[in-house]
Amino acid sequence: MNILEAIKKGNDTLKENGIKSHKLDSEILMSEVFNKKRKDIILNFDTNLSIKQIELFNNLIEERSKKKPIAYLLGKKEFWKYEFDITEDVLIPRPDTETVVEQALKFTKNKLKLKILDVGVGSGCILLSILKERKGFYGTGIDIYKKTLDICKSNIKKLDLHNRVKLFKSDVDNFNYGKYDLIISNPPYIKKFKLKYLERDVYDYEPISALDGGIDGLLELKNVINNSSKLIKKGGILILEIAFDQKDKVKKILINNGYYIKDVIKDFAKNNRCIVSTKI
Ligand code: GLN
Repeated sequence: MNILEAIKKGNDTLKENGIKSHKLDSEILMSEVFNKKRKDIILNFDTNLSIKQIELFNNLIEERSKKKPIAYLLGKKEFWKYEFDITEDVLIPRPDTETVVEQALKFTKNKLKLKILDVGVGSGCILLSILKERKGFYGTGIDIYKKTLDICKSNIKKLDLHNRVKLFKSDVDNFNYGKYDLIISNPPYIKKFKLKYLERDVYDYEPISALDGGIDGLLELKNVINNSSKLIKKGGILILEIAFDQKDKVKKILINNGYYIKDVIKDFAKNNRCIVSTKI
């Protein structure tokens, strides 16, 4: 069987299983089998596959048919300017989350040296992207899972940032180390009862602990905001990712905790996604 025939077969299987991006996904998974770029696959349609390659491709198609996200099948995802290693222990970096990076860069434009804390660092996509843009900044990431920190560690290594990042296995309640100029967080913020209505790709594969924001979706946001008070410098910036319908509630919580709202930013779909505040 050659590449073209296999891609067509993969495409048909994915289509039958209701995968919307069936053609693209079949091509991407074939690229993974050859460890080559998609364009190199398309330019070599008549190359024959070995038995091993057919087996590997069929396995990937089968997994994708069960809605496993492409990012987990490849073990990587593009975010900002970089490619991050990921496993099912971390949330897949989303383009909307780049708004947090943009705002962090915007509000630290003229700073040379600065200390950042990322609460629930996950793959490290937010923190590490900021550090790559600002050579004099130092980062601390906390997360409650060792496996998650291991992924973050591998991204730190990949991006050559080991001299400027520290990781701690801790929740924010028990974290009491240092004072920060900038705190960022994309905490779990989805209402518990809404979780099961998420796409199967998300609900069946992504870590629920990174999505479940309790009954009102605000449990972890409140927790991060409350605990930030002990970790942030006066005049420091707190940047949070929020759900599309949480703007007013989060604003209120921030104000009650001594923060001044600087901006609320919309994502690509024009939903409120990111809230920037400063400690007064
Ligand atoms: N934006 C993610 C989603 O909609 C949720 C991320 C989060 O809870 N922090 O799947």
